[in-house]
Amino acid sequence: MENLEQQELTKIWQSILNEIELQLPKASFVTWLKNSELVDKKDGVAYIALPNSFTKAWVENKYNKIILGNIRLLDDSTKNIKYLVKSAKSSDFPKDADKNNGSKTETSEKQLAFPEFKIDPETNLNPKYTFATYVVGGSNELAYAAAQGVVGDIGKKYNPLFIYGGVGLGKTHLMQSVGNEIKNAYKNQVRVKYVSSEKFTSDVIAAIRAKRAEDVKKKYRDVDVLIIDDIQFIAGKEKTEEEFFNTFNALYEVNKQIVISSDRPPKAIPVLEERLRSRFEGGMVVDISPPDYETRTAIIKTKLQQKNKELPDSVIDVIAAKVRKNIREIEGIVNVVLFYKEQKRADLTPQAVEEIIRKNTQHTPENITPNHIVRATANFFQIPIDDLMGKCRRKEFVRPRQVAIYLLRDMLDLSYPHIGDIVGKKDHTTAIHAYEKINKELNKNSDLNQKIILIKDIINKSSE
Ligand code: ADP
Ligand code: MG
Repeated sequence: MENLEQQELTKIWQSILNEIELQLPKASFVTWLKNSELVDKKDGVAYIALPNSFTKAWVENKYNKIILGNIRLLDDSTKNIKYLVKSAKSSDFPKDADKNNGSKTETSEKQLAFPEFKIDPETNLNPKYTFATYVVGGSNELAYAAAQGVVGDIGKKYNPLFIYGGVGLGKTHLMQSVGNEIKNAYKNQVRVKYVSSEKFTSDVIAAIRAKRAEDVKKKYRDVDVLIIDDIQFIAGKEKTEEEFFNTFNALYEVNKQIVISSDRPPKAIPVLEERLRSRFEGGMVVDISPPDYETRTAIIKTKLQQKNKELPDSVIDVIAAKVRKNIREIEGIVNVVLFYKEQKRADLTPQAVEEIIRKNTQHTPENITPNHIVRATANFFQIPIDDLMGKCRRKEFVRPRQVAIYLLRDMLDLSYPHIGDIVGKKDHTTAIHAYEKINKELNKNSDLNQKIILIKDIINKSSE
């Protein structure tokens, strides 16, 4: 039984969510926040639980501000939010998760549970991710082939396998497919373990606290295939990097397979120790890029089939044509369109579907170009475009340049090397640095925030 307190929290949270729902595109809300819970509130901190560590990272990054703002409207004693990963049942959630050990995430293998599939607690693999449900196209065929290569020749052919690409493009799906395929083919003869780098980090921290370093060693070195997701999150965390480096070497030296994913190539992960970087580059490095139109169509059809649902080809066509950059977002739109269909809320004419997409994607219209962004930024700061894109390090140019870089990434999702090119042949690390600087500052600097909103407005208008 839930206690009264939890019921109270649930009620509060529901009314906050109702507010937030009005402020976000439907698909974003459904994808990221619908399954959130307020699990505790004390000493000025609200504790929000999310279904998995990926969602946690995303919400923390993208929606912290809007959530905090809405909580504070109801209760301005709340100063801060801590995000946690939900255990399989929220009532299992330890009330004091954060109080004593200070660790952000109370981690247990159960956490990654999805309602409809059972995660194997031994391997952390979700059986829903298989090669069979992975659609292959030009954007991911190399990564797919390499992943299959790993299954065919574990530990030898491609080791480590390093897969990188933007958010929602299928890295986790592909890596988990490798794990599931090996598990099914070899049963218990080959020990597989999947771990997010966040979980790895929290295990390392917990082991250090408890002075039980052997725990981590045992857990992660006692495997034949180690799959570690979103490695960029360990960069700069010294102890974790150190432990990962040791784990990596221990496994690598005895020909165990390592599969790694990241949102960018090894050389573009700032503050990653050089020795780790060169280890990564010593294996097979493959990228996944956004899918082309045909692949998007195939993905939509596969997802519908899996759900046992149908949509007319004309509708599929509009979605495939308009939603381009993120497969998770494509899935979100498909869900919303199905919802509309089932509710008979609208005839699904192409115009109606376009409208649904427009309302439900955060992304800017397709017709915004890098040029719009550069021009609008230069105009806003009243500097010549040439200076914005030039080499001069004077403050009045550096700042606008950073803002332009931020906007190119934020609005168009361009790769860092591409952004570097656009703003005057800068190195991609410059682009990463600038993006991260602005992104960080946005949380604290409302003046900057305001400026960015104004520039975005100008860009949106100039591209109409
Ligand atoms: P990433 O780890 O790169 O952020 P995910 O692997 O979590 O992305 O993929 C996001 C969603 O898109 C998942 O639901 C996944 O099943 C789906 N997806 C991604 N790529 C494909 C693909 N090629 N075929 C089918 N579904 C895909
Ligand atoms: Mg992922």
